[in-house]
Amino acid sequence: MIISDDFVIKCDFCGREYEISPDTLDVDYAYDERGMGTEIQYIFYGETECQCGEVLRYRITAVEYPAGAYNFHESESENCSFVTEPQAEMDYLPEPVMSVFEQILYNPGSAYSLEPWEFEQLVAEVFQRNGFHAEVTQHGGSCHGKV
Ligand SMILES: [Zn+2]
Repeated sequence: MIISDDFVIKCDFCGREYEISPDTLDVDYAYDERGMGTEIQYIFYGETECQCGEVLRYRITAVEYPAGAYNFHESESENCSFVTEPQAEMDYLPEPVMSVFEQILYNPGSAYSLEPWEFEQLVAEVFQRNGFHAEVTQHGGSCHGKV
């Protein structure tokens, strides 16, 4: 879970505005076991001392539930108000796209769990990378393809 963008707060006492970068926030975690698994609360919080001397505090609680899914978030503030609402979102990492060959390099043990056609593809790729021409031929009902 991340706070996706800068947000703006305004001092309740003097009206000065401050742009808050998500990088400046601290984060705490809270876990709660619920019906569909673990609920994870991310509590982002920070404070800024205003030029008028007041300490402006803000806190965004973002909830992930069930695990991996964004549920909701809420923001609270003390001595200030939000000019732009902080937005929370899941920081999904893109799955790296790897060929069978790269998967094996990355995790040699995975060679043992290959489907027969994947193994043929791997053999073909090894030949190709060594300058040979190789292709996996179509196979029919049986799993006995040829490279
Ligand atoms: Zn102020």
